[in-house]
Amino acid sequence: MLDKVTELSQRFCGQIIQPADVAYEEARKIHNGLIDKRPALIARCNGLADIADAVKLARDLNLEVAVRGGGHNVAGRSTIDGGLLIDLSAMRGVHVDPGARTARAQGGATWRVFNAETQVYGLATTGGAISTTGIAGLTLGGGLGWLMNKYALSLDNLMSVDLVLADGQVVKASAEENPDLFWAVRGGGGNFGVAGSFEYRLHTVGPMVTGGVVAYPLSEAHDVLRFYRNLTQSLPDEFTVFAGLIHAPDGAKLVAIVACHCGPLAEGERATGAIKAFGTPVLDTMGPMAYSQVNTMLDAAFPRGARSYWKSSFLPTLTDDAIRTLIGYFERCPASMGQVLLEHLHGAVTRVGVSDTAFPHRAPGYNLLVLSQWPLPADDEVCIRWARDAYGAMESFVGAGRYVNYLDNDEHGGAVAAAYGPNYRRLQQVKVKYDPNNFFHMNQNILPAA
Ligand SMILES: Cc1cc2nc3c(=O)[nH]c(=O)nc-3n(C[C@H](O)[C@H](O)[C@H](O)COP(=O)(O)OP(=O)(O)OC[C@H]3O[C@@H](n4cnc5c(N)ncnc54)[C@H](O)[C@@H]3O)c2cc1C
Repeated sequence: MLDKVTELSQRFCGQIIQPADVAYEEARKIHNGLIDKRPALIARCNGLADIADAVKLARDLNLEVAVRGGGHNVAGRSTIDGGLLIDLSAMRGVHVDPGARTARAQGGATWRVFNAETQVYGLATTGGAISTTGIAGLTLGGGLGWLMNKYALSLDNLMSVDLVLADGQVVKASAEENPDLFWAVRGGGGNFGVAGSFEYRLHTVGPMVTGGVVAYPLSEAHDVLRFYRNLTQSLPDEFTVFAGLIHAPDGAKLVAIVACHCGPLAEGERATGAIKAFGTPVLDTMGPMAYSQVNTMLDAAFPRGARSYWKSSFLPTLTDDAIRTLIGYFERCPASMGQVLLEHLHGAVTRVGVSDTAFPHRAPGYNLLVLSQWPLPADDEVCIRWARDAYGAMESFVGAGRYVNYLDNDEHGGAVAAAYGPNYRRLQQVKVKYDPNNFFHMNQNILPAA
């Protein structure tokens, strides 16, 4: 192994990190503190050439491979015990073409960097609600965010991807080049290759939009969630509204509505007025704010290194019984940073066909996320059990669809196939064409067609 690694380091432009290196301990960490894996080798790449070399090295050494973009995957699929980690975290460049209204971003960029660069020109595309999340994993699996109801998912705004395939070949996937691969990467995650860069379509957004959080005491949760349900029955495309049962920094349990209206400020003020006037808020930050600020306002609630365990499904309707169940479980939530989130989908995201991309969830409704998050290893068992129990109690309300980017590490074997629903078979056929030996399997894995 050492010979091959030495040979590679002579032309590698990034950094090769081995377990004995000082940089190793920090380099092996990902966002979720519950994940504690030790790769045999970390190839921190600088570009496509390094990625292709790292793929070839893994083949030569017969090592399993994991790929890291932003490192946010809750299931820990972006690292590996004993294998080779292809780490793109140093590849964060974003180049905006304001005339063409496009941006090309490298595979290790986060939404923080992406929004900062695109907002220089008053442009944006749908990205994650937390700025530290990577563009790569989020886009390849879906991309729910504040602009999705106006401009559809992150992956719907993808124009092309540069990929390194399992044999080390570099290819482009777009509507014109390798269209089967382009269809599959828009939802199929990291199953087909390592994406070195992504080209996105941009839209005029902000720089000022209307957004923020209004939080109420948990004693008002039934009324607030019923109000939220009514509000989400007729939202304009510009208006994206999430609800959450959350913990304040002092540990108080609250119910909150979090929103972003990306249209003119006067319309945003009208649209958010009803939320601000409802109940007896204990916190109200909703008002005009920079679009990039909307994308960082929740960051502090998801600190790097916190221990996380998630359960999630799409929820077609929010019945009174479902609301009662969620509140009942949240009242008993032992995780000091635990949350129950409802993300509402309507508008543009629901006007894309189920099979136009590999991401099939196009019906209006909610995505439910039971998110257990806590600081101390001693609480692992009780906090994980709470999420499992709360999600289990919701199983009679949720639909069949599940978002692959929110799947944790302990789902049953059929969960990935179920998450892709009618698109799974076609994904398997594309997988057999581009990665027949399942070289890329540290992901929510699509098995090559038999
Ligand atoms: C705090 C937090 C907030 C989140 N908010 C949102 C949100 O608002 N909207 C939303 O839709 N999702 C959200 N997510 C979920 C998010 O979409 C997934 O965690 C996603 O996997 C993160 O992408 P990443 O690049 O950071 O992940 P990583 O952990 O780096 O990678 C995730 C997966 O993608 C693969 N992958 C990563 N980079 C590449 C690449 N360049 N080429 C090929 N494969 C690659 C990896 O192999 C792995 O399987 C959030 C997650 C967290 C932890």
